Amino acid sequence: MYNKKMYELGSHPSAIRDLFEYGKKRKLEIGEKNVFDFSLGNPSVPSPSIVNDTLLELINNTDPCMLHGYTSAVGDVMVRESIEEYLNKTYKASVSSDLIYLTVGAAASLTISLNAICNSGDEVVVLAPFFPEYKVFVEKASAKLVIADANKKTFLPDISKLESCINKNTKAIIINYPNNPTGVMIDEESLKALCDLLSKKEQEYNHPIYLISDEPYRELLYNNMDYLFVTNYYKNSIVCYSFSKSLSLPGERIGYIIVNPECENSKEVFYAVCGAGRSLGFVCAPALFQYMIPNCLGYTSDLSIYEANRDILYNNLTSIGYEVVKPDGAFYLFVKALETDAVKFCENAKEFELLLVPSDSFGVKGYIRISYCVDTSMIERSLDSFKALYDSYNGGN
Ligand code: PLP
Repeated sequence: MYNKKMYELGSHPSAIRDLFEYGKKRKLEIGEKNVFDFSLGNPSVPSPSIVNDTLLELINNTDPCMLHGYTSAVGDVMVRESIEEYLNKTYKASVSSDLIYLTVGAAASLTISLNAICNSGDEVVVLAPFFPEYKVFVEKASAKLVIADANKKTFLPDISKLESCINKNTKAIIINYPNNPTGVMIDEESLKALCDLLSKKEQEYNHPIYLISDEPYRELLYNNMDYLFVTNYYKNSIVCYSFSKSLSLPGERIGYIIVNPECENSKEVFYAVCGAGRSLGFVCAPALFQYMIPNCLGYTSDLSIYEANRDILYNNLTSIGYEVVKPDGAFYLFVKALETDAVKFCENAKEFELLLVPSDSFGVKGYIRISYCVDTSMIERSLDSFKALYDSYNGGN
């Protein structure tokens, strides 16, 4: 007999995937241009040209057996060194290549990190709204997901709510800024308050509480905001990074884990990362894309396109009357649904060919997520539908 839990996961795709599949069918029925699909976070801006230039250079000038061969299980040493150098220079951090593990995107980075630190009975706290797959990853690591609501106005951590969710079983908290689904970036005061709370709780319970920072949107920040690199703020921290969004490479599956050198027993924690990677089969991340990294660090896809999309949507939706969280980064807009049941609201939105994701799977009710990593022209075409949807609730013409 197969594993029932895995069957459940495989046979019930996420709400986001469901909607995406619906969109594909609907586009065949009424034409691609007439469906406004805001479901998936699939980058719509091409990779910067340095990515393909580097890949071609590698393909043309590298011994194929090396290029397509196994690397060290943890990743190529020179690639890891280049990441160390880049991060230390860019964020004034002090990460070490010895504690960097290359892997296949942020999903694997999170799964490996959680399996490395969690034992059965441990609890992992997430801040709602949160990326729905956290539940799957945490439970696969034999831990229990504990949900702490973020502040409903700012969507930043609510320190007293968070404190009430931490107990002697708490092993880690996952944060994600800029955030999916709200687009919010944490400010320094809030990050320090969060770190102070965790340090206090570590002392109280006399064991490390890891801060796992899930950072696929690290570079997708607007208005010249600075990124706050978590190892500069908290000792027992682990960074889970991915090039999926910054370089528009989600299909290539490349990213890394960093164990903060200041982490208690950092070497042992890193060995546990290696062991988790090994037991999950996440060793030797794709070699070609590892070798691409040194040349492409510091580059991003053209973020001005996402910023323009954000501005068009934010300005138009707020002027229609929608209540929208102003996003600092990523490519999502979090909007208050016009009725308490966001699932119903999204069903109604389909009548106007708007494909919006209800917030329920992100752990909060009453909102919708719009992914604006789409063609700007689609956003422009969709505005009449957003207006008509609003009017259908507010008696407009
Ligand atoms: N974490 C968050 C918050 C995400 O939004 C995503 C993907 O959308 C991931 C992790 C997974 O990223 P990857 O495709 O690099 O595995």
